[in-house]
Amino acid sequence: MPNKNKIGYRPTWAEINLNNLEYNFKQVKLRLHPQTKVLVTVKADAYGHGLIPVSQRLAASGVDYLGVASIDEGIKLRKAHIKTPILVLGLALKQDIQSFFTFKLTPTICDYEFAVALSRKATALKKPMRLHIKVDTGMGRIGVAHQDALELVKRIHKLKSIVIEGIFTHFPLADSGRKFTVSQIELFYKLASELKKIGIAIPLVHAANSVGLIDYQNSRFAMVRPGLVIYGLYPKSGLGINLKPVLSLKTRVVFIKQVPAGCGISYGHAYKTKRLAYIVTLPIGYGDGYPRNLSNLAPLLINGRRFRISGRICMDQIMADVGKFKPKLADEVVLIGKQGKEKITTEELADLAGTIPYEIACGLGSRIPRIYVS
Ligand SMILES: *Cc1c(COP(=O)(O)O)cnc(C)c1O
Repeated sequence: MPNKNKIGYRPTWAEINLNNLEYNFKQVKLRLHPQTKVLVTVKADAYGHGLIPVSQRLAASGVDYLGVASIDEGIKLRKAHIKTPILVLGLALKQDIQSFFTFKLTPTICDYEFAVALSRKATALKKPMRLHIKVDTGMGRIGVAHQDALELVKRIHKLKSIVIEGIFTHFPLADSGRKFTVSQIELFYKLASELKKIGIAIPLVHAANSVGLIDYQNSRFAMVRPGLVIYGLYPKSGLGINLKPVLSLKTRVVFIKQVPAGCGISYGHAYKTKRLAYIVTLPIGYGDGYPRNLSNLAPLLINGRRFRISGRICMDQIMADVGKFKPKLADEVVLIGKQGKEKITTEELADLAGTIPYEIACGLGSRIPRIYVS
């Protein structure tokens, strides 16, 4: 049982199993050519698993690159003394260029003007800057249009004090559109070979996210960029890889009462007991990122038995009708994870909530302490 001092007074916490994180990382590595590099995305607090502990463990396991969304996330890693190269996947503002130098972060570029500003700064500081160029082959988000990419790379290549370390693209339909993804890979492959032909050697060509790297072998190029699978979560069912979930979400029974049949539970009385029943109250709610649209839907485990949330999820509390079964106060309740022979996966909750496992994991709020078990 986790140390009480570490989890605070409210008995609600997330357990993060870093051994499982490393296991998943190794499962990915096993599929790759030994020379293929791996960037793991640790944006959004490592998908809700905790930026620093996750990154430290990945660094110790030999990750080649870490991917963050913003400079702020990169700075947090540097302040925690993480030395691994860090790619800022989102775009930065010109006024923030200095920070890439100060904190040794790698910027993503998709236009010439930003590259020029970087080159000026790099020249003035006498510190060459390595960067990655983002190419849009069909995501419609950031990136230079693939038709214009060759020209842009050529121009940036000529800039002083700039090293083009990488070019990359992203798949919008890796889990649903085989034909489209294959055409993206072809476009990107063509660009990479044209660059090689004219003597511009870019060491890190990368495209594949989790689904990409498993379902499309030829999308692996020089580096892959998994996120979700490293956390032991499946972006789609039937993905050919064996993973171990990293996060469990747990709480404890804080109140039990017996109520008669026909008793309304929680706001709006969206649940009414069908018979004499015990109702338990648990200290977690949508204020913790536990989605409110799981009201009357989400499963939970007590004493290795499966029950369901009863009535609307409140901001800080939820209730469950456990029928004739009378749990004890402080009994452990699993909302995500295993108990006895039963388990609840993040994927199952995501399906019930009409969302994706990514959103469930990142959504768990800062009010839930993360406890690291190894
Ligand atoms: C988040 C992200 C990834 C990782 O995607 P997963 O589906 O979690 O594997 C890869 N590339 C980019 C650009 C991303 O933003």
